[in-house]
Amino acid sequence: MKKFKEYIKNKTILKYFLYSVYIILTIGLLFSLLGHPSVRNFFGIIENKTFDIRQSVLDKYKKVNKDIVILSVDDESYEYFLDKYGEWPISRNIYADIINYLEKQKPAVIAFDLMFVKSLKSSSDADNKLAKSIAKYDNVFTSINFDNQSFALRKPLDLPQALKADVVNDSDINLKNDYFTFSNCRAIISQILTTTANVGHINLMRDEDGIARALPPFVVYKDNYYPHLALKAAVKYLEKTENLKIDEFKINNKGQILLGKRTIPLTYHGTAVLNWYGPSGMNTNSSFVYIPLWKIEKSIYEGEKLLPDSYFKDKIVYIGTSATSLFDLKSVPTDRVFPGVEIHTTFVNNIIDNNFIKRVPPLFDILTSLLLSLFVGLIVIRNESTVISSLVAVLTAIIYIILSTALMLYFNLWTGIVLEITAILLVFIACYLAKYILKSRDLEYTYALATTDGLTELYNHRYFQEQMLQNIETGKRYERPFSLIMIDIDFFKKFNDTYGHQSGDAVLRQVAQILKKNVRSSDIVCRYGGEEMSIILTNTDNENAIFTAEKICHAVSEHPLKLVNGNDVQVTISLGVSTYPQNGQTPQEMIKYADDCLYIAKQNGRNQVGKKKA
Ligand code: GH3
Ligand code: MG
Ligand code: MG
Repeated sequence: MKKFKEYIKNKTILKYFLYSVYIILTIGLLFSLLGHPSVRNFFGIIENKTFDIRQSVLDKYKKVNKDIVILSVDDESYEYFLDKYGEWPISRNIYADIINYLEKQKPAVIAFDLMFVKSLKSSSDADNKLAKSIAKYDNVFTSINFDNQSFALRKPLDLPQALKADVVNDSDINLKNDYFTFSNCRAIISQILTTTANVGHINLMRDEDGIARALPPFVVYKDNYYPHLALKAAVKYLEKTENLKIDEFKINNKGQILLGKRTIPLTYHGTAVLNWYGPSGMNTNSSFVYIPLWKIEKSIYEGEKLLPDSYFKDKIVYIGTSATSLFDLKSVPTDRVFPGVEIHTTFVNNIIDNNFIKRVPPLFDILTSLLLSLFVGLIVIRNESTVISSLVAVLTAIIYIILSTALMLYFNLWTGIVLEITAILLVFIACYLAKYILKSRDLEYTYALATTDGLTELYNHRYFQEQMLQNIETGKRYERPFSLIMIDIDFFKKFNDTYGHQSGDAVLRQVAQILKKNVRSSDIVCRYGGEEMSIILTNTDNENAIFTAEKICHAVSEHPLKLVNGNDVQVTISLGVSTYPQNGQTPQEMIKYADDCLYIAKQNGRNQVGKKKA
């Protein structure tokens, strides 16, 4: 049993040691687990979900740019065209007429999220007419799609020089990565490829959960960069409205594409994370304006006036499909059914309003998770109340989540949530565990303190009584004997008078040690009171108990004891033994019997084990 001061000192050291070890182990474990790709992947998937939730919460607070209009082959238009022409797709003559019709209103840009692939259904006259009207204006764009089809299936096409983009990449992002480097492409009609440079790619990558959150501004094909259709359309819009000149795309060392004062921040994979507006204007009036394409067709061919004059003036007109039967529907963070064309307009809108989402660097997440979790850990360590510390932990997490959501709304920043919350949770648990261990150790100490005699460090009287009862109970149940030795130091009053109380105390301590040394570890040595001690010998019959008593008596009388002045002195003890069950059935009876024997020992001249005559 350690002294109290020593215990407290050790306790403080242990406390800091234990907390530090637990926190370091937890954080260390977390970060080393993150070193494994599959764990990182797992965290990434959940982090993406938190992005979706934040985007869904915030989309109502974001306004789309009213210069963007979607001309859509929606369900109505699809039915209309099927009714009128008996087929889908419609003749390319119609698209040519639509271009010419729209151009009269001087739109800023017309972009087709439709691919004019080679088709037997389409006559070369219609193809020529379409290509001609696209080439006639410098603001009409159309799309091409890259893939990795085998060369046996189709021979990779050589694309005209004009289609590729000059990219100057000063960042450490590898744009020529596996995700966006393609070996093949689906050919569109050569009339378009040879007459216009306004062709952009429409490749999309979904995350593992099938949700599209980011788009690649460039893809790589035959070692050349090809820009996204939406990027080309947006750049054209900026060139027209702000006289911006972009001959080459510069990516600075921060990984941002520079478009004048606007930037497109790129992820490590070279994608741009979109800031989603919503909900989709396909079904509501709250997002991008959708004009059904049939209205344009009817205006052109039947002279009906279904839209105001100059409705498309200076607008970006994006033409695509949103009809459910045409299947160009994707899942995005804010919506599970979202038309591909609206992904494009979102991209364009992000560019012209300069509001892409910027993912903070990993170091930011590492530091914030360290800071937050250490803060929570400190609260747990310093606060006695479980309620308060768990409340602080929960509040810290909630406030952080709210803060991250606000950062996304006001600064377009994507700060991590999963790592931070995990760190908070783990450190909270770790500190709680450490605290629990320290508490139970305290409890053990308190118990020891309550059962120990301060002077001799033997068990105290209370513990002795407790153990007597316990042993009688066990003895009864298993019909097993146990014995009690009562011990009294001889002439101790005189000893005190001669050498002083201090030496008396010292001798008491030394006698206690001798007793302990001469019994088994399962025996219970107690200070009964004053200079009287008692030993409970578990599982011991009378014969063996008397033998032990004799041994102890001998040991004490032989052993030189130290006075406080350093001199040696000798004391003797008298002993009495009683054994369960023959000498008593209750603690009182057993103590009485042993005391009687002790009295006999005193009567017979002390320094001996007293025995009653049978
Ligand atoms: P006997 O041989 O008959 O036992 O003689 P005795 O003097 O030992 O008589 P008794 O057992 O009645 O005396 C107990 C004495 O023990 C009284 C007191 O002076 C001394 N004593 C009791 N507790 C302590 C203690 O904690 N420290 C010291 N120094 N002395 C104690
Ligand atoms: Mg006494
Ligand atoms: Mg005595």
